[in-house]
Amino acid sequence: LQVPDYPVIPFIEGDGVGPEIWQSAQTIFDKAIEKAYGDKRRVEWKQVLAGGKAFDQTGSWMPDETMTAFKDYLVGIKGPLTTPIGGGIRSLNVALRQELDLFVCLRPVRWFKGVETPVKHPEKVNMTIFRENTEDIYAGIEWLEGTDDAKKLYKFLHEEMGVTKVRFPETSSFGIKPVSIDGSERLVRAAIEYAIAQKAPSITLVHKGNIMKFTEGGFKQWGYALAEREFGDKLFTMNQYDQLKKAQGAEAADKALQAAKAAGKIIVKDVITDAFLQNTLLKPEDYSVIATMNLNGDYISDQLAAMVGGIGIAPGANINYATGHAIFEATHGTAPDIAGEDKANPSSLLLSGAMMFDYLGWFEVGKLISQAMEKLFQKRHATVDLARFMPEGVALPTSQFTEEMVAHL
Ligand code: NAD
Repeated sequence: LQVPDYPVIPFIEGDGVGPEIWQSAQTIFDKAIEKAYGDKRRVEWKQVLAGGKAFDQTGSWMPDETMTAFKDYLVGIKGPLTTPIGGGIRSLNVALRQELDLFVCLRPVRWFKGVETPVKHPEKVNMTIFRENTEDIYAGIEWLEGTDDAKKLYKFLHEEMGVTKVRFPETSSFGIKPVSIDGSERLVRAAIEYAIAQKAPSITLVHKGNIMKFTEGGFKQWGYALAEREFGDKLFTMNQYDQLKKAQGAEAADKALQAAKAAGKIIVKDVITDAFLQNTLLKPEDYSVIATMNLNGDYISDQLAAMVGGIGIAPGANINYATGHAIFEATHGTAPDIAGEDKANPSSLLLSGAMMFDYLGWFEVGKLISQAMEKLFQKRHATVDLARFMPEGVALPTSQFTEEMVAHL
């Protein structure tokens, strides 16, 4: 990205705890930039509206100006939004993703020392999830049981397509899961480019291709094919391994795999989703960059975040690597139960901001933010949601957490 020294970055403060965590985050972002670059660089923050606040002020949940700002300025950041009930909008986040075609949901997962976790070796968890963001069951193509459309569809399936496997046609709802070569390839390409840039040891395609052979199985096959076709000299795939094994035997295949590893090539492998979820608990160190489809990615993101105790602090971004558009976001909701109480944890938004600065190439800023957070957590200083699980944890109000973060930058 070509980033000016004084970029304009649109932000949505968000609903519920949004204003509190945004105020905290903006203070820390500005201080971290100042610390890293003095007055050579600065962000011009531009507030745009969405969610409940937008609806109250403009009558629209997602005003056109907000979409335009994210389109024009390429990179933006947002707090959590109240999901409108009814009114034909499924989710504002989904609307933003679709409008800007943000096809990657990026979720890094790592552990911060001091944060309580349910696993024995959280330090071994260091993964980056690339979740496809536009296809799969999230296309929302469904028919409710008993409706005329569901009956019509069943009739078509039964009479035209010869589908005889529907057990209870009268009471069946139906869903269609579109998964394309184009959609899968652009996701896997982004994951591979990231893995190359980060010198990651492996990429794992996670899928349920044993059951859904053409959709999830397609994702796996297309992923391998793309890897070999476009990045052949930089990686070695387990598909190549299997072919070699078939043609020349296990010894030759093992030798090729070892040679690829010795040459620093990235190993591209695949695993069935259920096995992946088990393996990440037992041997998380086996995984680095994960490329997966939409629904699998949903489950995986939260399970891995929980493994490092970070379900409330996990950062995320939605990115279109072709156009450069990206929106970084707190992954939790609006926490209406604690809004306005100076209790909210701004860490998810802060770490999303750190990701954003990395994306802009302002690496020093991201580093300062995550290092300061690490220092606080090691001292067992945190907002109450985390501190209450830390032995002798010190629960700080949001405002004080912000002050301590600034002091530790
Ligand atoms: P939630 O994440 O808002 O809250 C779940 C629990 O986690 C609550 O007890 C809350 O107090 C706590 N929590 C969440 N964020 C916290 C933080 N930063 N600091 C401390 N504690 C925190 O989930 P919910 O209650 O299911 O949803 C509330 C609203 O948020 C709904 O309107 C929902 O649609 C919306 N939502 C938005 C997003 C988003 O914009 N990305 C994501 C999830 C939910």
